[in-house]
Amino acid sequence: MKILVATEKPFAAEAVDGIGKIIRDAGHEMALLEKYTDKAQLLEAVADADAIIVRSDKVTQDVVDAAPKLKIVVRAGAGFDNVDLAACSARRIVVMNTPGQNSNAVAELAIGMMIYMARNCFSPGTGSEIHGKTLGIHAYGNVGKLVGRYGKAMGMEVYAYDPFITDKAVFEADGVVPVDSVEELYSKSRYLSLHIPATEQTKGSIGYDLLTSMPKGGTLVNTARKEVIDEQGLAQALEERPDLKYATDIAAGNQAELEEKFGKRVFGTAKKMGAETAEANINAGLAAANQIVGFFATGCTRFQVNKF
Ligand code: NAD
Repeated sequence: MKILVATEKPFAAEAVDGIGKIIRDAGHEMALLEKYTDKAQLLEAVADADAIIVRSDKVTQDVVDAAPKLKIVVRAGAGFDNVDLAACSARRIVVMNTPGQNSNAVAELAIGMMIYMARNCFSPGTGSEIHGKTLGIHAYGNVGKLVGRYGKAMGMEVYAYDPFITDKAVFEADGVVPVDSVEELYSKSRYLSLHIPATEQTKGSIGYDLLTSMPKGGTLVNTARKEVIDEQGLAQALEERPDLKYATDIAAGNQAELEEKFGKRVFGTAKKMGAETAEANINAGLAAANQIVGFFATGCTRFQVNKF
């Protein structure tokens, strides 16, 4: 089988070597398309691919149409909103993600961003400490759990909300207090770490009402997706509440405007970098390769995210 690694933003070299070894050891062939600048290059590369590994690359209807032999797409990472699931399902193409493989990298960044905001973006002046403050975890998945644990280790009082986890023992095992509504979470949290996926239900769901319900000095840290933010509501909340702060790993559509208007109260990483560690690259890349090899060897569909 021909397995294409299509990464506009390439994996670390060590990850590419490991992926290649897994693919070749299993008797398959690897093709590599890195740093492509034009969609046409991707469309050409998928023409004879049986499988594709992508990162944030968009697998849209035209990509699926250009890939007549395609049987499986693996998104090396957690979110899979860059893959058109309906287009893949219509062709019975399996789509998988690699959950948990980059969670630690994202969780460390989230904690780092909290400290950065608490210390006035590391500029002179008196900052504050995150120790002893409340931390709300919005969505208690792979990343949220780790942020909760690290927050506890930093002496924070940690709350969490995840409507899909009904067993309270999951939270309690980590010393985290589950709350019953998203409103309760925001109203309790001096720091709020966002980990919801971008879905039809969550898009634009974090805005003015939730942000202005946060306690004095409320800081929202977004390492999830920009689409979940209602950007106008965010701007309005920052305008009306001079104590609120926003740090994001995924630049808002109005990021430059926000930074200009609100100075050090708003921070965005230059480019999405939550999963940009050598360790996360290697973990997610190797997992993607192993999942494809397993799928072709035994039909294993663990981590499949689409249904058909
Ligand atoms: P995950 O799938 O392990 O966890 C997602 C959690 O969200 C689940 O526990 C689920 O129950 C919960 N959830 C779903 N809908 C919800 C809702 N409406 N309200 C509250 N909770 C809800 O995913 P993860 O690995 O923890 O990653 C979380 C998100 O972070 C991903 O979807 C992705 O968009 C983003 N992410 C960003 C980066 C980055 O580079 N910044 C890297 C990895 C993941």
